[in-house]
Amino acid sequence: MTRALITGVTGQDGSYLAELLLAQGYEVHGVTRDADEVVTAGVVPHELDLATGSAIAELIADIEPNEIYNLAALSSVYQSWQNPGLTARLNGAVVAEMLAAVKVIHDRGAVDIRFVQASSAEIFGAPTESPQNEQTVIRPTSPYGAAKAYAHGLVGAYRTAGVAASSVILYNHESPRRPETFVTRKITAAAARISVGKQETLELGNMDAQRDWGWAPDYAHALLKTARHSEPDDFVIATGISHSVRDFVAAAFTRAGVEDWSERVRVSDGLLRSGDAALQLGDASKAHRILDWSPTVKFDEIVAAMVDHDLALLS
Ligand code: GDP
Repeated sequence: MTRALITGVTGQDGSYLAELLLAQGYEVHGVTRDADEVVTAGVVPHELDLATGSAIAELIADIEPNEIYNLAALSSVYQSWQNPGLTARLNGAVVAEMLAAVKVIHDRGAVDIRFVQASSAEIFGAPTESPQNEQTVIRPTSPYGAAKAYAHGLVGAYRTAGVAASSVILYNHESPRRPETFVTRKITAAAARISVGKQETLELGNMDAQRDWGWAPDYAHALLKTARHSEPDDFVIATGISHSVRDFVAAAFTRAGVEDWSERVRVSDGLLRSGDAALQLGDASKAHRILDWSPTVKFDEIVAAMVDHDLALLS
């Protein structure tokens, strides 16, 4: 039986990936911060606070998984400005500890662990070219992006040293499992509440920012395909189509049945971010060519699924 270890197993991506691996007959181990977190049924939970200590190395040595998916992170760019030290630890130093533990097992000639790092479009900061690909200059503009860039570099270094490590540069990917700290879910939850009279207005930051939004379960498939591919490598995972936050707002309110949304949405300067990329757009042609990966859900379908979910929660 193939054994996988997922950090961040209770998050959006971790839960979709766990379901996918369990359905394929894997033995799935998951790292959780505390016992209160809801873990996908069938996953073997391991309670461990990655913010302190280095118990993750011992866990890897104990389990000797065939595949490791490192999805744990401080996941919000906004919050990384409030907690840069914790961001450096969770999104950076922990990856070093994990790769070092994998290398020990590799050097012993035991299991050849496939390590997949969830990297991010934020490593490109305000990108120097559009669309971005695996060769685009890495120049982060947030503590989140800087820590992810360090981890991305580490994966390359350990790959050169013989470890089967890959870094998957994920563009934004959404689903009803997104928390409201992300703009998409914040918008769909608000549009649903406003449509039934439970909320008056929605405050947002930069509505002109453009993001390449994909469907989270598609991205879980990309992680799995990366682990399975014979050659460890780096891959951009994106849809190749971007929309503005304003486009997302319009689509969500329309879906919720609120046509005159302009009176309902306000821009708050307090929600603007330093270093916020004006436009992110990914070129996933390498993943398409080598992994046979393609996105399957379009922008309007993503918005509809999220709004419908939030409407259902209210009824
Ligand atoms: P991120 O790209 O991983 O940071 O994902 P987010 O969903 O948090 O942000 C996506 C874009 O939406 C960024 O350009 C934000 O600046 C922009 N944005 C505009 N208003 C808001 C808001 O109220 N909350 C969040 N989270 N993002 C916002």
